[in-house]
Amino acid sequence: MEDKFKTNILDKSALKTNGTVNYNSIGTFLTRVKEKNPGEIEFYEAVKEVIDSVWELLERHPKYLHSNILERLTEPERVIMFRVPWTDDQGHVHINRGYRVEFNSAIGPYKGGLRFHPSVNLDILKFLAFEQTFKNSLTTLPIGGAKGGADFDPKGKSEAEIMRFCQSFMTELYRYIGPATDIPAGDIGVSRREIGYLFGQYKRLSNEFNGVMTGKGAESGGSLLRPEATGYGLVYFVNEMLQAHNKSLEGQTVAISGSGNVAQFAAEKSLHLGGKVVSLSDSDGTIYDPKGLDEEKLTFVKHLKNEKRGRISEYAKKYDVTYLENQTAWNIPCDIALPCATENEIDEQDAIALVENGCRCVAEGANKPCQPGAVQVFLKNDLLFGPGKAANAGGVAVSQLEMAQNSMHTQWSRAEVDIKLQEIMSNIHSKCITHGEADRSINYIKGANIAGFIKVADAMLQQGLV
Ligand code: GLU
Repeated sequence: MEDKFKTNILDKSALKTNGTVNYNSIGTFLTRVKEKNPGEIEFYEAVKEVIDSVWELLERHPKYLHSNILERLTEPERVIMFRVPWTDDQGHVHINRGYRVEFNSAIGPYKGGLRFHPSVNLDILKFLAFEQTFKNSLTTLPIGGAKGGADFDPKGKSEAEIMRFCQSFMTELYRYIGPATDIPAGDIGVSRREIGYLFGQYKRLSNEFNGVMTGKGAESGGSLLRPEATGYGLVYFVNEMLQAHNKSLEGQTVAISGSGNVAQFAAEKSLHLGGKVVSLSDSDGTIYDPKGLDEEKLTFVKHLKNEKRGRISEYAKKYDVTYLENQTAWNIPCDIALPCATENEIDEQDAIALVENGCRCVAEGANKPCQPGAVQVFLKNDLLFGPGKAANAGGVAVSQLEMAQNSMHTQWSRAEVDIKLQEIMSNIHSKCITHGEADRSINYIKGANIAGFIKVADAMLQQGLV
């Protein structure tokens, strides 16, 4: 049946006469991606990583190439771009650009976060939505992939300005989303507060109280443990990686970047499992606390970042520890590094420094914080490397549990959600092993990409050319 969809895009150069694939056709395909998406470097890198991982599989199963799944998978199903007008507290008019990239709905409704940050553009959101498609597939839950946001900078904005921006953003977005269509959530710059305003405006415009957004406050139908889920899930995944290699977190020194939602709860769960967390950061710098964080210090960080919206340098002042202004955490000696800030925060030099300082395990709490050159350094040196689409999938997984609770008009206990989250992270880890087992070690990148790909690609084949 797949032959019906045979195209001439790949098969001229990609298929030999006997139907198997030439290796150099990977290049042919990637060149085409580059040409079709000019200047979209982040998107290209994300595609390249997945294609590199799945090419061998395609060679063994030419049905995917015959039906041109690759080209279909790298083209978003729909991209929405819109104007977001709003006024500041002085009455000045501002215009931002809003986006929603609905990338793939083969295995479920579009699902993924919204990012409010000045760096947001189409390239970044296509890359994130593409990644999200495979991440969501890996969770084993029925959710497609999407991402959205705006080039709006929440830094320094008043509560009223944030609310007006969220309301204006949703006034356009609400037409395109719905609990069975597209379910946005948070990402950088969008947390419970913003989700509350966005959900409120959606409810007002649609006259429906439903599960259209996740990450809501518990009183508005949010799932318990959703705020903790990405950070906790990350550490559950690290624990799985360590256990598979006869190690544990107990007594390990953990360097964490970021101090937002993911970093805070990655730190908390690391402490629960006996790790010593020695760093946190924000866009101004990094704190290095060699004695390690404890529950009291963590409470201070949560209040500082979530309530006061202050800078991490205040931690260094309060606890009299080193503040590395404008520096990252990657020169700090550690056993485990958890980059939880943003994409591309670890470059090749940082990776070399981490290896030289004894780091043996890196897992991505953020989406693609490690540059390709850095990842190569980790793999060459046999570090355990957990890619974001596997390691940070706990957040979106609990988002899906929130959708399930909303549609059943119920709320599960924290303990119930936690058990499910642990199971999901353990399943993701097993899938990575199944598809990523290599001679000497486990290639978690390959494992995650192949497992994520197979489910989406097979669903696409089942649903015909749509
Ligand atoms: N932004 C998060 C992620 O990167 C969560 C998305 C969601 O909950 O839909 O996976």
